[in-house]
Amino acid sequence: MGLNKIIGQKALVSQLKKILSEGRLGHAYAFSGPEGIGKHTVALEFAHEILCPFGKPDSCGCVSCRTFAEGTNPDFYEVITDKSSIGIDTIRALQEHVANRPAYGHKKVYFIDGADMMTVQAQNCLLKTLEEPPEYAVIILSAVNYEALLPTIRSRTVNFRMEPYSEDEIRRIVMPLAPKNKNELDFYVKFSRGIPGKAVRMLEESSFRDLRDQIIGLLKKPGDFSQMEKVRKILNENKDDFTEIIDIIMSVYRDCLMVLMGIENGLINSDKKDIIKEIASACSKRKLMDRLAALENMQRNFRYNINYQLGIDVLLLEIQEV
Ligand SMILES: [Zn+2]
Repeated sequence: MGLNKIIGQKALVSQLKKILSEGRLGHAYAFSGPEGIGKHTVALEFAHEILCPFGKPDSCGCVSCRTFAEGTNPDFYEVITDKSSIGIDTIRALQEHVANRPAYGHKKVYFIDGADMMTVQAQNCLLKTLEEPPEYAVIILSAVNYEALLPTIRSRTVNFRMEPYSEDEIRRIVMPLAPKNKNELDFYVKFSRGIPGKAVRMLEESSFRDLRDQIIGLLKKPGDFSQMEKVRKILNENKDDFTEIIDIIMSVYRDCLMVLMGIENGLINSDKKDIIKEIASACSKRKLMDRLAALENMQRNFRYNINYQLGIDVLLLEIQEV
């Protein structure tokens, strides 16, 4: 496998390959960017290439590559988080492992996924390894919020910020999971806004399709009380998906605005064009723009807002208003 298998991220991949081919490998790297952008995938393939003593993991059958593929390579150590926090004990355990020399090759790779979840104590502890790493150790971090790491960690780490993928790249990534209906695939590609993990998750979870259908149903009949209660139930049951839900609603209003402006190509919800037209026919451009602004505001506030129930009420009110 290795870096060659990665779709997209061309600039990043060629930078990483250059580091390896020119023998300039340092001790600490970070991949940062939004949830679902592929930090984990890139980090693993980078680790795989670092560990292969022959430097060609594409078609390599060496013991390092074989065990890496099986997930049993002793020179690879991954810290997996439950997403809440990474404490000092976890880092201490990692450091004990760092003390032993590589088993197969010349390097050992330590991957801390969600490194921005490290407590300050954990980061200070890790700092000792970053300050005086054994020559064989490479630390790889992934972080949604790279700036949350201590400046002392960041100053010793080379950070690669991952950029969104093109629509064509997303299409290639999700193709194996893709629905037969081309318009539906178009929706997932456009809706993901360059983040493959978003498209993959939506395609894998059938509940997302139901959610989308229910929400579009409500937008079609904003006065329908039973439909509204259904959406309220969905919102109550999918707290983690609040921003996705707002994204769905915004995508519908954006499409309606396009329709009212006479632009029907390039709709996000192109597979629901008829319903979009119906919703648009009951709205004015002004109203749609106001709603989009309100939703954007709501999404921004929601990140800091603990009061979920209030968020739901405001959202439903916003949809109901004619
Ligand atoms: Zn190999």
